Amino acid sequence: MSLLINMPNRSSTKLVAALSQFISPEEIEVWPDVRSPEKVTMALLWQHQHGSLLAYKNLQAISSFGAGVDFIVSDRQLPHLPIARIVDPMLATQMKQYVFGVIQHHRLRLEEYRIKQSTQLWQPKGPHKGNTIAILGLGQIGTEVGRFLHSAGFNVIGWSHSEKNIKDITSFTGEVGLKKVVSQADYLVCLLPLTPSTQGILNKSLFSLMPSYGVLINVARGAHLNETDLLKALNNDEIKAAYLDVFQQEPLTNDHPFWQHEKITITPHVSAITSLETAVAQIVENYKRCQSGEEILHSINRDKGY
Ligand code: NAP
Repeated sequence: MSLLINMPNRSSTKLVAALSQFISPEEIEVWPDVRSPEKVTMALLWQHQHGSLLAYKNLQAISSFGAGVDFIVSDRQLPHLPIARIVDPMLATQMKQYVFGVIQHHRLRLEEYRIKQSTQLWQPKGPHKGNTIAILGLGQIGTEVGRFLHSAGFNVIGWSHSEKNIKDITSFTGEVGLKKVVSQADYLVCLLPLTPSTQGILNKSLFSLMPSYGVLINVARGAHLNETDLLKALNNDEIKAAYLDVFQQEPLTNDHPFWQHEKITITPHVSAITSLETAVAQIVENYKRCQSGEEILHSINRDKGY
């Protein structure tokens, strides 16, 4: 039995070293130089080459190296096997700090004051208006972010697939619910998984419902956002600003119009970074479960795609 690491765009040196404390190095394979494909029982993936899992006839389970599995389930040649994701409580902690930080950056006009500071301009103004935060996706991370923002004094509403009863967050479902949530959003935070039904959801019809002083925060996946629609909405003053951590193409290309846009603030996919320690513990646990024929932890619903 062996564990395959298939993460073409990332260095796996630290990961292999960390896994080697729990799994014999002979049982760890790194794609593409796989010594014994027939021994591979579990595959750990991040942005793998689609179709590349067909080579492993004895594969029993697949795991993402992060919270999202969109790049896995979109592989049309994926074997029909259980898929796990990393559920790291620290991801939610990092995400609530990030989202709170960018909301405060905008609300308190910090960028405006930094520019004024350069010309020694003393010009006090109250915070930007708007106290309602709408969160799309009330899962592991969205719920934590919402609770935290409520405790910081914001009015928090949210949208999910199934109905929720979460203390301090008024939540909605369905198309009608989405419109209700978005039309009240002073800050619209996307924390949805990327699936065929959420791809491109941040588009002109949503922006047209938001208040003109509304702010978009996308910390989920780049493909949730229609980039052309966002540029139009910002240029036509339909919404006020956007904070973006994720992009359709990462890294963002040098000629991308987002770089120079005065209403867009960019961070390079850093809002919540999977901890190596937590990930390794969950990967090792699932690898052992594969060996003993037990069900893996944190498996996703393949039909729903998350
Ligand atoms: P999760 O626990 O799977 O929760 C997903 C939420 O989205 C659930 O509330 C689900 O509703 C809702 N949802 C899914 N499809 C929907 C639809 N069509 N309509 C309405 N609601 C829908 O996911 P999570 O752990 O909170 O993470 C969310 C996403 O954040 C991940 O998939 C990942 O892409 C992203 N992320 C980004 C970073 C980063 O660094 N930028 C880091 C971590 C995660 P139900 O509860 O009713 O199923």
